[in-house]
Amino acid sequence: MAKEVLECSFCGRKKPETNLLIAGINAHICDKCIEQAHGIVLEELKQSGNSELVADLILLKPKEIRAFLDDYVIGQDQTKKVMSVAVYNHYKRLMQIQLEDEVEIEKSNILMVGQTGTGKTLVAKTIAKMLNVPLAIVDATVLTEAGYVGEDVESILTRLLQAADYDVAKAERGIVFIDEIDKIARKSDNPSITRDVSGEGVQQALLKLLEGTVVNVPPKGGRKHPDQKFVEVNTQNILFIAGGAFDGIERIISKRLNRQAVGYSSSIGTDHIDKDNLLQYLIPKDVKDFGLIPEIIGRLPVLTHMDPLDAKTLRAILTEPKNALVKQYKKLFEMDEVTLDIEEEALDYIVSKALEYKLGARGLRSLCEAILTDAMYELPSSDDKHLQVTKEYAENSLSKNLLQRLKAVS
Ligand code: ADP
Repeated sequence: MAKEVLECSFCGRKKPETNLLIAGINAHICDKCIEQAHGIVLEELKQSGNSELVADLILLKPKEIRAFLDDYVIGQDQTKKVMSVAVYNHYKRLMQIQLEDEVEIEKSNILMVGQTGTGKTLVAKTIAKMLNVPLAIVDATVLTEAGYVGEDVESILTRLLQAADYDVAKAERGIVFIDEIDKIARKSDNPSITRDVSGEGVQQALLKLLEGTVVNVPPKGGRKHPDQKFVEVNTQNILFIAGGAFDGIERIISKRLNRQAVGYSSSIGTDHIDKDNLLQYLIPKDVKDFGLIPEIIGRLPVLTHMDPLDAKTLRAILTEPKNALVKQYKKLFEMDEVTLDIEEEALDYIVSKALEYKLGARGLRSLCEAILTDAMYELPSSDDKHLQVTKEYAENSLSKNLLQRLKAVS
């Protein structure tokens, strides 16, 4: 009987035509088929990994996103609601891209307008924490048009790559918070005025990024490392949140409201307008009149405002968020087995000083620090295991150092 020539049970190649033929129980497989099968396994893994990522992201409904924000951010109802929906839609959009649907959902990049220290960065940080995606916080004032002193807009993506530990796929689903976007507003309404390097040119450069494009990103950052290899980053699924104080925009809003009151019907008065918080009436046109170009505004379609922080909000910020300042100090003292008690009146006093010196929420931290520094210095090496902060204690500690300095500058 002629000797049987072994062959691959998958492709039928005879043993002499293969480099390797591995025997199984009742079959054989050649090296080529192994390679091909390996490729299929990798592809499958990649796809199921992707859908897992999207499944993770879509898990939270707007109300759940809102509840997460509530744990960290006090007040700012409108922003929380608008952001919850925008973030939810953004990740729904990612899901849809995965399914290659015909109806293309556009991006929900966000523009937040509100005084400094009202929680814009905090909101962006909290969203990123919740979604477990990388976050880059960049300052628009350092950006310039390519070729000028300063940073190119691509540097934004360098930061995001760094935040994602250079995992490009992760970065491509991240969040970029562009702070002080108002500082790159056109200085004059006349577009023919001589080019302003840090203004309109940067807005133009940002357009593509916001919309979604593939950018060659220098992974180590701009011009200091000219030899590095560029990394391609697609910004299509990156959520951009821009924020700014837009100082003076209230005047634009108020003017418009007055004009409307006169223009439409005499029955519409301006009496019912809440003049202490004009930002709540903000519309995209106001931002345009401030100096952002319409194309930028169009690419930041979700517009929201931050309410100014009143005494009640500041008081809540001290004690209520998950990582509230008072909770943090309690923890610090606890590590030295010291219990810290700050009396209600002392907290009210801290809030009144923050308001008096227009320090906002950021000031709460410096005020607490000034009040507690002596104790944080003394108590770890003392037998005293309790610190009761009364209003008098707070007043005395403050007047000892911080208030003197504040008075000198105010
Ligand atoms: P912005 O970006 O608007 O200038 P931040 O988000 O940086 O302000 O806020 C500064 C600090 O003030 C934050 O770290 C946070 O501790 C506190 N803060 C501001 N607004 C709020 C708020 N609405 N709820 C809780 N904390 C706040």
